[in-house]
Amino acid sequence: MTKIFVVANQKGGVGKTTTTVNLAASLAAQGQRVLLVDLDPQGNASMGSGIDKQHLERSVYQVLVGLATIPEARQHSESGKYDVLPANRELAGAEVELVDLERREMRLREALAEVRDSYDLVLIDCPPSLSLLTLNGLCAAHGVIVPMQCEYFALEGLSDLVNTIKQVHANLNRELKVIGLLRVMFDPRVTLQQQVSAQLEAHFGDKVFQTVIPRNVRLAEAPSYGMPGLAFDGASKGAKAYLAFGAELIARVQNMN
Ligand code: ADP
Ligand code: MG
Repeated sequence: MTKIFVVANQKGGVGKTTTTVNLAASLAAQGQRVLLVDLDPQGNASMGSGIDKQHLERSVYQVLVGLATIPEARQHSESGKYDVLPANRELAGAEVELVDLERREMRLREALAEVRDSYDLVLIDCPPSLSLLTLNGLCAAHGVIVPMQCEYFALEGLSDLVNTIKQVHANLNRELKVIGLLRVMFDPRVTLQQQVSAQLEAHFGDKVFQTVIPRNVRLAEAPSYGMPGLAFDGASKGAKAYLAFGAELIARVQNMN
């Protein structure tokens, strides 16, 4: 059965897009059939997968408002070896249009139901807010992956996200749960990061993924070439860490069934 994961954290710049793109490539490299859904009007995950967001005939926007199906709008990422349902600025308008539509928070879930047999895993990249777009991601998913930096304020934002996930679980999507917290951009030389990392483990136990993604400049450079880290520099620490994370996630998914 297809597993659908949403990568969410309402803070910007915490590594959501980097995680979605690199995890998609890692899972594809491990033989999984993957669809990446870009739910951010900034379209960074699309660009980082080598899809030109300026020249999209159809995008996730048309899918959400019912003007296209996923097979009509998806593209293939050559550099990542996975499919992409791309986004661009047009998606910003969807927020307003969706408000008047029926089952407005279920639009993505219902669209994904039609392509379930085509993929082993679907990964959804969210905008930095708890908006109707993010809500569509949460309603479509089995689980949430939360990337976070090990900084003091990281923990503060977490409770808002956890509360939203609880509400969605109670009212809209009984399947939803937190799969895990992923420590990203980690620098072991910074004492505060070590402390926050240890606190996370103490507090959240095995909800914290064992894999830690290091701060690695190759991961930051890759998107401007339209490539995940694995295609750009497979020997880099960042690419290897995301490969390990993919393997850890596959093992967790098998235990979920
Ligand atoms: P978000 O999608 O949450 O806004 P991004 O994935 O776009 O966050 O990451 C924010 C910035 O940090 C980007 O410039 C990205 O290239 C950089 N970045 C993300 N992860 C890493 C990492 N592990 N090492 C170095 N830079 C990173
Ligand atoms: Mg992003």
